[in-house]
Amino acid sequence: MLRDHFRPQSFNGIDDIVIVGGGLAGLFCALKLSPRPVTILAAAPIGHGASSAWAQGGIAAAMSPGDTFEKHVADTLTAGAGIVDEKMTRMMVAEGPARIHDLLEYGVPFDRDLEGKLILSREAAHSERRIVRVKGDMAGKAIMEALITAVRNTPSIRVIEGYVVEELVREGRFISGVIARPDAGQSKKRVSFPARAVVLCSGGIGHLYAVTTNPWEACGQGLGMAARAGAIIADPEFVQFHPTAINIGKDPAPLATEALRGDGAHLVNSAGHRFMLDIHPDGELAPRDIVSRGVFAEVQAGRGAFLDCTKAVGKHFPDMFPTVYASCIGAGIDPVTQAIPAVPAVHYHMGGVLTDAEGRTSIDGLWAAGEVTSTGVHGANRLASNSLLEAVVFAARIAENIKGTLPTPQLTQWGDNAGENDDPVTVEDSPQLTVLRGLMSECVGVVRTRESLLRAIRQISALERDNARMRFTNILTTAKLIAVGALRRTESRGGHYRADCPSEQPEWRRRTYLTLAEANRVAAEVAETETA
Ligand SMILES: Cc1cc2nc3c(=O)[nH]c(=O)nc-3n(C[C@H](O)[C@H](O)[C@H](O)COP(=O)(O)OP(=O)(O)OC[C@H]3O[C@@H](n4cnc5c(N)ncnc54)[C@H](O)[C@@H]3O)c2cc1C
Repeated sequence: MLRDHFRPQSFNGIDDIVIVGGGLAGLFCALKLSPRPVTILAAAPIGHGASSAWAQGGIAAAMSPGDTFEKHVADTLTAGAGIVDEKMTRMMVAEGPARIHDLLEYGVPFDRDLEGKLILSREAAHSERRIVRVKGDMAGKAIMEALITAVRNTPSIRVIEGYVVEELVREGRFISGVIARPDAGQSKKRVSFPARAVVLCSGGIGHLYAVTTNPWEACGQGLGMAARAGAIIADPEFVQFHPTAINIGKDPAPLATEALRGDGAHLVNSAGHRFMLDIHPDGELAPRDIVSRGVFAEVQAGRGAFLDCTKAVGKHFPDMFPTVYASCIGAGIDPVTQAIPAVPAVHYHMGGVLTDAEGRTSIDGLWAAGEVTSTGVHGANRLASNSLLEAVVFAARIAENIKGTLPTPQLTQWGDNAGENDDPVTVEDSPQLTVLRGLMSECVGVVRTRESLLRAIRQISALERDNARMRFTNILTTAKLIAVGALRRTESRGGHYRADCPSEQPEWRRRTYLTLAEANRVAAEVAETETA
């Protein structure tokens, strides 16, 4: 849908920067680029179809009197299981407080005490209180509302909503624009947007899996189109599962925030047994991947897993966790008196398009920020609340870098029709996507084995052979990169668990880099082993 003030006449002679995605990374980058003209193309109306609006915890920044950058870096390194890029992390952490002040200036109503000082909360695996929040679990919604208002009030930013980008156009070494499909991807028409700079901010991959906390727009299309254009992808195998999505058959699955366990909620099975105490000395506060596997095992065994908040939170639930409370009540569960059914769900992708400290990808003309990237700051496992921080820090650095690299804006004629073809099926309606999501959950999920990964790669190749649709090609490309990355990493580390190689291996204490050409070579070898 095109907003009234962005009618087709303004399609001519616009600007040279196109941002793909209207989540936190995309909006923040556009604001930081102002007053330079920029166009945001977003698959859904901004504020919808973005994980950013659903963030419940908040943003991590070392700003409390007892906290230091060193401590925040140390916690991030520990969570990332040995493969975090320390230099990038130091830079991100050091720039965190300044970006929080930017957000305050854009009008984000972070919680403050009676003296007007920011209230900093603590989350699992953070050694200090360093999470800025809004009204308990409303951070994402409040941040996005403030930024959307700021964006709408910034004349240099043009927002075109309901345009699904399906291709990055590459000419030689350069990305020279994008091709998008209007009407939320329903149109037969394809529209080209030539650009000197494209900033990819298209979010994560959750909807490649059957159970996820992410909106359906997070189905890895951006990562897939970048890989198809030749970009290097880093650490694709590292997918983070949230241990306590609410298991009420909803897609996406609503989240029961980590803070509930932080506040003392217990995980029990249908027999009332607190199973996490058998698995880890920290019980429910063990690292996310260990809790996810504990919950997964109970669900697989048919005993179910339930988050019991009745004692720890009780009657304070509606005030302390209004979003979770509303999800539970909507499903007929009163969390004040009843335990919440839980299931692990894909929540965050640590892997993504490889970027440097300025957000540049391996292809000239293409920058990337937010969850679609792999900057190296999350390693094998993201520290809670570091992802919104990463999005704003790198989006701001990209804006500076583009201003330095392309000092003079150039008017570009865009909006040319890039032809028509018959691909107007929404991704969420596609039966092939349902098949893929089941396959990814079963074979590339919480617990992986060589056999399950070989099966996944073969079936992804089969789906590719039967597919002629560009957007599904992007999705399949991302699925293949994750499965191939997981096959190659013959160890377990962070979010990647291989039941056939369950411990960390010193030779794998490194990041991985993968191109689509390499992934295709591995997939071809896998196909040969089947027929051999
Ligand atoms: C339920 C939930 C709770 C979370 N809580 C926290 C938290 O408390 N703290 C924290 O740090 N992180 C949290 N996260 C993670 C965090 O929200 C995300 O990592 C972050 O918001 C990603 O921001 P982004 O801008 O990269 O992507 P998004 O916010 O997902 O935005 C992506 C944008 O790209 C658009 N898009 C996608 N594909 C296309 C395409 N092909 N063409 C055009 N547009 C496209 C989407 O419509 C959207 O506008 C949470 C995530 C979830 C799902």
